[in-house]
Amino acid sequence: MKKIIYSLIILFTAMTINAQNNKFTLLPLPYPAEALEPVISKQTVEFHHGKHLLAYVNNLNNLINGTEYENMTLEDIVAKSDGGLFNNAGQVLNHNLYFTQFSPDGGGEPSGELLQSITGQWGSFENFKKEFEKSGVSLFGSGWVWLSKDSNGKLIITQEPNGSNPVAKGLVPLLGFDVWEHSYYLDYQNRRADHLSELWKIINWKEVEARFEK
Ligand code: MN
Repeated sequence: MKKIIYSLIILFTAMTINAQNNKFTLLPLPYPAEALEPVISKQTVEFHHGKHLLAYVNNLNNLINGTEYENMTLEDIVAKSDGGLFNNAGQVLNHNLYFTQFSPDGGGEPSGELLQSITGQWGSFENFKKEFEKSGVSLFGSGWVWLSKDSNGKLIITQEPNGSNPVAKGLVPLLGFDVWEHSYYLDYQNRRADHLSELWKIINWKEVEARFEK
């Protein structure tokens, strides 16, 4: 009898493991953790990517398990969910776009159509940066500032609270600055404005342009 019970426990455990949803995986960093120094320290990248983002990925996988969201794309989940699922899915999307928009060889200005659109909308690239930083600094609490394009290709800056992402508003996210304290506190403490103004040095504009042209 004992043997049967043990067998059943093992079988049940195996079934549970099989049913575990591992649809979404942790994004591999496209550069070494120290590559963004001194703008973002190795320690911050390691915590932010290896602890915070990993937790969002695990929460997302657990929350979609056995639900209608199981077979949706990440963008669709963010656009159609709410509550805890919305925040965790949004954070996975936010961070996947965030970590892939940086490069140790980044900085400078965008070019081509993206630069033209930015200049057309905000007068100059410098003025756009100022407006973008202002939106990040004035966001109350945790969240994101995003540059997106709308369905007509027009650029827009939005503040997104907590785990929200512009896809929830039908926008295409292009460039996002994380203003959660976990993204800068080890390096900048309470100086959010200083952190945001440094981030321009590591922006991979080729990546942002590719998102704009898609
Ligand atoms: Mn973050």
